[in-house]
Amino acid sequence: MQGHINPQRIPFKVRAIASALKEGGGQPFIVGGSIRDILLGKIPSDWDIAVDLPPGDVLAIFPGACTVGIEFGRVSLGDVDVVSLRAEKDYEDRRHPAKVTFGVPIDKDLERRDFTINAMAWDPFSGEVFDPYGGLEDLKCRALSTVGGPLNRFQEDPLRILRAVRFKNTLGFNLDSRVTQAISESKALLAQLPGERIFIELKNLLLSPSVYRGVMDLYDYGISSIVLPEIDKAPGAIGRSLAACRPDLTVRLAVLLGMAWAGTPQVSDDVERFKCRFNLPAGLARDITWLVANSSPDEILNKETLRGAWRGSRKEEPGYYDDPGYIIRRIVYHWGTHQLERLFEVKHAIWRGSGKGGIPKGCLFLASGMWSLQQSKACGAKDFEVALDGADIMKVLKVEQGCIVGQALDYLEEMVLRNPEVNNRESLFKILLEWWSKQR
Ligand code: ATP
Ligand code: MG
Repeated sequence: MQGHINPQRIPFKVRAIASALKEGGGQPFIVGGSIRDILLGKIPSDWDIAVDLPPGDVLAIFPGACTVGIEFGRVSLGDVDVVSLRAEKDYEDRRHPAKVTFGVPIDKDLERRDFTINAMAWDPFSGEVFDPYGGLEDLKCRALSTVGGPLNRFQEDPLRILRAVRFKNTLGFNLDSRVTQAISESKALLAQLPGERIFIELKNLLLSPSVYRGVMDLYDYGISSIVLPEIDKAPGAIGRSLAACRPDLTVRLAVLLGMAWAGTPQVSDDVERFKCRFNLPAGLARDITWLVANSSPDEILNKETLRGAWRGSRKEEPGYYDDPGYIIRRIVYHWGTHQLERLFEVKHAIWRGSGKGGIPKGCLFLASGMWSLQQSKACGAKDFEVALDGADIMKVLKVEQGCIVGQALDYLEEMVLRNPEVNNRESLFKILLEWWSKQR
């Protein structure tokens, strides 16, 4: 592996930050995953600059920077972290080192890093690569080795176990027997980590193109039973299904949980518990609940999209509820096109993972609805927003504000979803008056 780095591969913003640090009296190095990825010919997802200045001096150079993590020497400028050279000692809570010492030489800073391939530094001004732990050699042989003994390093911070599985799969590296042995001896410590930290690594793995192998590794190394027991229900099928869909977090989690909880009645409670375990955003949990709960068009109508007032009419007017176009318009109106596409993908991926051929009936139904939507002029959520508002209704019906206005709006909304062509003021006034005459 050549240790030469072409400075042109470093974005202007990163070079500009390095220059500002140099002008401020520091010696900056580009370090960690950024250098690893550049040497592998990949584009780094984020950048780390290590510098021999204390955090206060870095902040004086970039006064507007984000200071979350400054006690560990980190000052963030968007996707670029400037980290003061530091050594760490005694990871008491298996998360934060009890002692951080700033002002150490670069070799010492690299020593605290997890894997040799993540423990290299590059001086952008001299072009020199610092590789005291053999990272270049490991990159060449595609071997993932820890800096120092793996058991000690995993016991200091068990998250490194998940990072090992992640790098093995995303980079296509091998774990030697010392590392796998250390994983087996220390994996139980993963139970002590906060869910958010675990989720950052699980997310990287779940969104990677090598998700099938990643899921199988979590299972084979006995890690999933500690951090993501949902996988243990059917690791092979879940891995195949995840590999069959886009790397969209909502889609992949819905596939995983939909398969793990197949047939479970209280999906929303289960998703709520999953959300709390990993401290996930409420919007993500809401979208996943909907995708997992609505595995058939029938369920979509009954559980979510059909408002109470219209449930009764289902039997009286069965035509609409068998019409894929109508159901699809309802989903688009309440949940957006994005969620509709996700539903299709989730259903299809679950089917693929089960090893069945062809396309499931529900997907054909959704596809025909999506096709009919694309053919029509009204195809976005905005097109189904009723062209009258409460004030119009009160004026035409000569009524005060009250529940009748809400009922009228519900009725008009239903009529627009059945036939979007009526969504103009003239037609809606006519429909409204007809409805009103039957109410009295
Ligand atoms: P990614 O491609 O996901 O950014 P990365 O290796 O760059 O992978 P970061 O979270 O960006 O991961 O961390 C930057 C660097 O910090 C790592 O390359 C490594 O040197 C060091 N590092 C991160 N997490 C740990 C850890 N848990 N233990 C030791 N060193 C770590
Ligand atoms: Mg990184």
